[in-house]
Amino acid sequence: MKNLKTFPRGGVHPHDNKGFTNAVPIRNAPIPPLCTIPLQQHLGAPAKLLVKPDDKVKEGTLIGEASSFISAHVHSSIPGTVKEVRTVYLANGIKSEAVVIELEGEFNRSGKPLKAVDWHEIPREKLLEKVKEMGIVGMGGATFPTHVKYTIQKGKKVEFFVVNGVECEPYLTADHRLMLEKTSEILEGAGIIKEILNPDKVFIGIEENKPDAIAVMEEKIREKNLDFEVVPLKLKYPQGDEKQLLKSITGREVPSGGLPIEIGAVVSNVGTVFAIYEAVVYNKPLIERVVTVTGGAVAQPANLKVRIGTKIEDLIEECGGLKIPPKKIIAGGPMMGFAQVNLDSPVTKGVSGIIALPAEAVQIPKETPCIRCGRCIEACPMGLSPTRLYKWIDHQYIDEALKEGLMDCKECGSCGFVCPAGIPLVQGMKLGKLLARKKRA
Ligand code: SF4
Ligand code: SF4
Repeated sequence: MKNLKTFPRGGVHPHDNKGFTNAVPIRNAPIPPLCTIPLQQHLGAPAKLLVKPDDKVKEGTLIGEASSFISAHVHSSIPGTVKEVRTVYLANGIKSEAVVIELEGEFNRSGKPLKAVDWHEIPREKLLEKVKEMGIVGMGGATFPTHVKYTIQKGKKVEFFVVNGVECEPYLTADHRLMLEKTSEILEGAGIIKEILNPDKVFIGIEENKPDAIAVMEEKIREKNLDFEVVPLKLKYPQGDEKQLLKSITGREVPSGGLPIEIGAVVSNVGTVFAIYEAVVYNKPLIERVVTVTGGAVAQPANLKVRIGTKIEDLIEECGGLKIPPKKIIAGGPMMGFAQVNLDSPVTKGVSGIIALPAEAVQIPKETPCIRCGRCIEACPMGLSPTRLYKWIDHQYIDEALKEGLMDCKECGSCGFVCPAGIPLVQGMKLGKLLARKKRA
């Protein structure tokens, strides 16, 4: 592929390591006997608890209600009885109240013939309401409530809607498999979103390391005579970030501290688009998602369709367990994911992968002083100076770090990836933001 688009500033090229699972079709993970379903699975306020111990719930019963404008509904992913409500730690380290449900009774959706709804006659406000009702959030990891993202302020116009099929994090293949196996459904989901947002143009951004997904999307678009455009993109991390993706596709830059809508754009990940298709066409709440379970320490890496609330350790077990002791287990991608200390955290709406890495795949260089090589500056897609920011934060000069754009840092990990001195730059940025928030509070 020639003349592929990409973002011009920064970015890195980690080995993609997708070969473990990119040819492994999605299969259902076993239904767990106990599901632990957190009320805080999204950005914003946690959902308000609606059930109590001994309550009976069905598959898809609303158990947590969006509690403010930026919040999302939470549904039961299995039928059964509420055993308890307790505090759990999520894979990203956040503490949340969670509803523990014991599997019992019949499934009212799974395995039953479901009648498809023809959404073409449904007004766009009702479609948007359905997105909220079904608890849809951004499934690429950001978990921003989708109905909020799609509520466009008066005076703003959506020029571009972009389906994000980049999946630039190494190892992860859940979105890739979804594009291959659910192509028509994703296109129909994009059609529903087009109806809601009324954009001038719909793009589907896919990186060049997924040529089969690019081909099948283009073929189906032709077959269905849709006016969507697939944009093949040059391989570069972190192209899956909304801001980089928009720069790559539209050439426009989201202003510092701003949102994509300020340049007339809305972006949703392919997993989210598929969830919207299921929500609208089959009235299905967001109770399951595809998770890539992979890495050199996993016996049989796979892409699994998983009920929300399933324990991480159960997924590793389903993949034949660990064939060698892992040095590190990560929830999410290796660049932006979270190292796990124990494996009993539940899968939530934003968990796209579980990666178990052997020692040889985890190179942690010994930290030495900065040699002022400037590689971190070259790698930063946000045009920041990670080395200077790190020094400000290290000396607790938070105001100076803020002036230099600390809050624009996407925590993408590109700077740390290239640093020959092994300086934990991203951890520094995270700490700096934490200190800045504390100071503000
Ligand atoms: S983690 Fe932040 S500072 Fe480092 S490259 Fe990414 S955006 Fe730049
Ligand atoms: S890449 Fe590392 S060694 Fe080079 S300037 Fe940045 S912090 Fe210093």
